[in-house]
Amino acid sequence: MDFKDYNGVWVFIEEKDGVISQVSLELLGAGRKLADKRGVELAGVIIGENIKQLSHTIFEYGADKAYVYDQSIFKHYRTESYMRALLECTNKYKPEIILFGATSTGKDLASAVATDLPTGLTADTTELDVDEETGLLLASRPAFGGNIMATILCKKYRPQMATVRAKVMKALDPQSGRRGTIIEEEIQLKEDDIRTKVLEIVEATTKKVRIDEADIIVAGGKGLGSSEGFHLVRELADVLGGAVGASRDVVEAGWIEHPHQVGQTGVTVTPKIYIAIGISGAIQHIVGMKNSSLIIAINKDPEAPIFNTCHYGIVGDAFEIVPLLMDQFKTALR
Ligand code: FAD
Repeated sequence: MDFKDYNGVWVFIEEKDGVISQVSLELLGAGRKLADKRGVELAGVIIGENIKQLSHTIFEYGADKAYVYDQSIFKHYRTESYMRALLECTNKYKPEIILFGATSTGKDLASAVATDLPTGLTADTTELDVDEETGLLLASRPAFGGNIMATILCKKYRPQMATVRAKVMKALDPQSGRRGTIIEEEIQLKEDDIRTKVLEIVEATTKKVRIDEADIIVAGGKGLGSSEGFHLVRELADVLGGAVGASRDVVEAGWIEHPHQVGQTGVTVTPKIYIAIGISGAIQHIVGMKNSSLIIAINKDPEAPIFNTCHYGIVGDAFEIVPLLMDQFKTALR
């Protein structure tokens, strides 16, 4: 494999109903820095139906090029069809780096493509850099239970691939009217070639959980004692118009579903306000919320590690403190 044949940084652009996901815009910001450091172009790969116009958005967010697969066969995400398109594009244009959001789609597609190429893939990256000389991607992520940051290199294969968590990179301010080159591609793929069929899309009946986008998160831990006790967290979140977060132990106890889990094996969040109630502050939880703008912790143990991370700490019983706070907030927000 001659590394000189590989050139440019790519971002797989995720879209839904014609809207580019926030993580893809963040990755264009991160990709721009890597591309500038290497002196190469930044491109976005957009796959879908009726999505060509999204190229202009990605140019405004820093891309120089857009590789576009706009075909009805890509109406819904399916591993096989998207993988075929991305593999074909990668083999034809040979990028040195490809970044994906660490979303369910991004993780699924990246692992399928990396396996087929074959090349290395770093999952759940939280820091990215590149060695200007060698072009080696330095993809860092928490390892060994969050106790160390591991920087993972792909020395023998190209392209170098990584999935990156939402909300850890910064999107650039869009530059209105910024232009780039659109490269339209098409693959010969018939519906019969794909084993997976989308028969129906059933929207979740419960209110959509988007803790990764919430400005206020009220998160609860095992200190709330039971599923009934955890209701206090939901109530406070309702009062503040915030989302509900949880520690892993709470999710494992079945008090709330996994999409609410904050931390190393859950979601990384950066809300304006994060209120941690009855959460001890294990490192695996902290890595998922430590970049919140304002962290308030309520815990009855004055030695709880969460007090080393929070900006304001209240030592006491959540069942006494939270109802008092709720009354005050209700009055203030009336
Ligand atoms: P505990 O540690 O049991 O803490 C409960 C806290 O509540 C205590 O500090 C206690 O003082 C306090 N408390 C008790 N009663 C009250 C009361 N009445 N009022 C106020 N405070 C009270 N954890 C995550 O959260 N997210 C992850 O993504 C995650 N990933 C992990 C990945 C790996 C590989 C491993 C090994 C662990 C992971 N964990 C994760 C688990 C993590 O190590 C902790 O076990 C977990 O975060 C603890 O949850 P907790 O704080 O709710 O419970």
